Amino acid sequence: MRIVFVGPPGAGKGTQAEKIVAKYGLLHLSTGDMLRAARDAKTPIGLKAEEFMSTGRLVPDDVIIGIIVERLAQDDAKNGFLLDGFPRTIAQAEELDKMLKASGTPLDVVLELRVPEEELFQRLAGRGRADDQPEVIRQRLVAYREQTAPLVDYYTKSSLLKTIDGLGSVDAIFERIQTELDRY
Ligand code: AMP
Repeated sequence: MRIVFVGPPGAGKGTQAEKIVAKYGLLHLSTGDMLRAARDAKTPIGLKAEEFMSTGRLVPDDVIIGIIVERLAQDDAKNGFLLDGFPRTIAQAEELDKMLKASGTPLDVVLELRVPEEELFQRLAGRGRADDQPEVIRQRLVAYREQTAPLVDYYTKSSLLKTIDGLGSVDAIFERIQTELDRY
């Protein structure tokens, strides 16, 4: 199964992603985790990415697309994956489509985890990550609204989108996700 997981920061994607990959035996690819690892290792890409991450802006498309192209080409991606935090712009989504079309392995489903914006701010402010400062949170929510939310329309047009209500307990939300994924 090849899944894209879309949702605003603070929606609970990371928590649900771990449960999904454990149950369905998928490779979990979180671009946020990859960028944080690159930043901590002080690689050139990591240092460049940090300028954007620390202010809540998206890393440029060419940087992130390069990382994903390399990662999806590896053998362990052949048995299916959950992309968590990628794509985040229409340009990234188009590039992903192109890449997967070329290998004859299109996406099966796009899960959108939907949570109202008022709720997100509260959740993020209580989390304590370096980019969870109020100003940075605000910028990350703006980036989502302006650059990532258009993906909902994009994937609705290709009939891949399934919207999941992201309010409720972790287990209740995971139940909703399983109901969708068990169809595949
Ligand atoms: P996340 O952990 O998914 O919230 O990502 C943390 C930060 O990494 C984001 O605020 C962005 O600066 C950067 N980032 C992660 N994934 C992407 C992406 N697909 N495109 C651009 N920037 C990204």
